[in-house]
Amino acid sequence: MKLEDWHTHSALCHHAVGSIEDYIRKAIELELTTIGLCDHFPFEFLKNIERIPYEDYAITLDEIKDYLSMAEYLKDKYKKEINVRIAFEVDFVENQESTLNIHICKYKHHLDYILGSIHLLNFHDGRGAWAFDDSRFKNDYNYYGSDKVYMEYYKTVQKMLNSNDFDFDIIAHFDLPKKFNDIPNNKEIVNNEVMKTLDIIKKSNVVMEINSSGLRKDVKEQYPRKEIIQEMYNLDIPILLGSDAHDPIYIAWEFENIIKMVKKIGYNHLIHFEKRHKTYLEI
Ligand SMILES: [Zn+2]
Ligand SMILES: [Zn+2]
Repeated sequence: MKLEDWHTHSALCHHAVGSIEDYIRKAIELELTTIGLCDHFPFEFLKNIERIPYEDYAITLDEIKDYLSMAEYLKDKYKKEINVRIAFEVDFVENQESTLNIHICKYKHHLDYILGSIHLLNFHDGRGAWAFDDSRFKNDYNYYGSDKVYMEYYKTVQKMLNSNDFDFDIIAHFDLPKKFNDIPNNKEIVNNEVMKTLDIIKKSNVVMEINSSGLRKDVKEQYPRKEIIQEMYNLDIPILLGSDAHDPIYIAWEFENIIKMVKKIGYNHLIHFEKRHKTYLEI
């Protein structure tokens, strides 16, 4: 079976281990046909991120050129053994798309796809933006409580989808607020928000990532959970797989089981990207 991992990081993003080459070599060893490199796009130009330790989260603006030239060099070096695809994982932060675009527009011609993510929430109550999936902000998570965090998160995903200025191809780790195994108290209102978000995805041109990193976290389950994947299938929302590996040992983590699960749900193809153009891969 052809395995493709669309979500990997490297030491360049300051919180992962292994060089880009380590990831590519491991992916070849695992007989993957494609590896997507998608280090975090810089945060440093964003406003209202005083509390965010962004130097731990992403490459810096100064490092982008090195990242892309290394990725392109390795893509060519290993082209007979594996497809290397070059990307960024980009955070959506409301009302800051124009600043982001000033920076990312310079590099888009290098990219095969853009992964859109939300790690930061801002309740505009004076506490500022915080990173709900970083254990260092667990006090903020507890302060707001899981229902508020989930609701604000899905509303932010909807803003990301509805933004005319945020350009991306794939939604990463769709139900990330469950990472620490915090389950909503009011499941009904959160589920309604999930369904509302899926309807917007359906109308958009965006692909959903099935991200296996949740299996390695407290929640012990891929993002998104199976019931959501079933709804996605009913809505005909296309998918691909990402391990979110921050260490080469996690490349394609649990992919065989995930493919079994999505096939059982009914999916018979995954999406492949090249230069932001989609094709289908049969499974
Ligand atoms: Zn992420
Ligand atoms: Zn990631």
